[in-house]
Amino acid sequence: MTKIIEGNVHAERLRAEVTGEVARLQAEHDLQPGLAVVLVGDDPASQAYVKSKGEQSTAAGMYSVTHLLPGDTSQETLMARVTELAADPRLHGILVQLPLPKHLDEKPVIAAIGPDKDVDGLHVVNAGRLVAGLPALVACTPTGCLVLIKATLGDLTGKHAVVVGRSLLVGKPIAQLLLAEDCTVTMAHSKTVDLPSICRTADILVAAVGKPRMIRGDWIKPGACVIDVGINRVPFDNPEQAALGKTKIVGDVNYKEALEVAGSITPVPKGVGPMTVAVLLQNTVKAAKLQAGIAV
Ligand code: NDP
Repeated sequence: MTKIIEGNVHAERLRAEVTGEVARLQAEHDLQPGLAVVLVGDDPASQAYVKSKGEQSTAAGMYSVTHLLPGDTSQETLMARVTELAADPRLHGILVQLPLPKHLDEKPVIAAIGPDKDVDGLHVVNAGRLVAGLPALVACTPTGCLVLIKATLGDLTGKHAVVVGRSLLVGKPIAQLLLAEDCTVTMAHSKTVDLPSICRTADILVAAVGKPRMIRGDWIKPGACVIDVGINRVPFDNPEQAALGKTKIVGDVNYKEALEVAGSITPVPKGVGPMTVAVLLQNTVKAAKLQAGIAV
């Protein structure tokens, strides 16, 4: 029977650990980890993510601020805001919700956050340190995926991992994390030839593509561990509900088909998504400790 990897249960455990650590830091070091989340524009899904990040960091006992900027914010205004946050000693982590509106360039914004407060692990210094095998702030979603994979499979040595997607936010860092666990890693992307055959060789299959239900059941090796990172909004299957414009969230994997073949799988929702926010809190605590010279 296929094991459902319950990301929300793992995330709750991680949040409880973080809450305990925040209390300890406050009591022993008079240090309250602080997180700023910045959103440009009024995309409802992004607003919901940002709200949840703010609420969860406050619930964990952190200092939390949210900056909502209008969709027509200029590059200069955004840079000024991020630079201001980067200089604020109450803040140890800064997350700028991506993607930014098309007229804005995210690279200088990430550079302005600086490596120490880069809790999203996107700064070149953190990306480079990860590749070099040095301690780093690592992107939240990939870190959360690795927690789920290790909790499910234990030792990953020698396993073949196929990562579909090569973004800086998800595909590349998860491939590096799996490599560091002594997996043999194949990275696939939109130019990969015969993707189904490559996926069929995977003991661990990570889908981070952004294409609803693209990975079919017959692309999956029997018994494989399937991690579905995708978040895609699609119309309801029921035509009457679809006609009313109702939508739901599905992953990059055809879940129904995958359930017949996979050994374990993350559902969407309640799989990888909740882990991302929990790791964001964990990364903020880690950043606070590093900035205060406390062992992590
Ligand atoms: P990007 O759009 O940045 O990257 C998508 C990747 O998928 C690219 O590398 C692209 O290849 C590859 N790709 C696109 N089409 C195909 C195809 N037909 N076959 C194989 N590969 C393909 O997306 P992200 O990495 O940021 O996000 C991926 C998904 O994960 C999205 O659904 C996103 O919403 C979700 N996500 C979920 C999170 C969570 O917390 N659960 C957090 C972050 C993202 P190429 O490089 O060649 O263009």
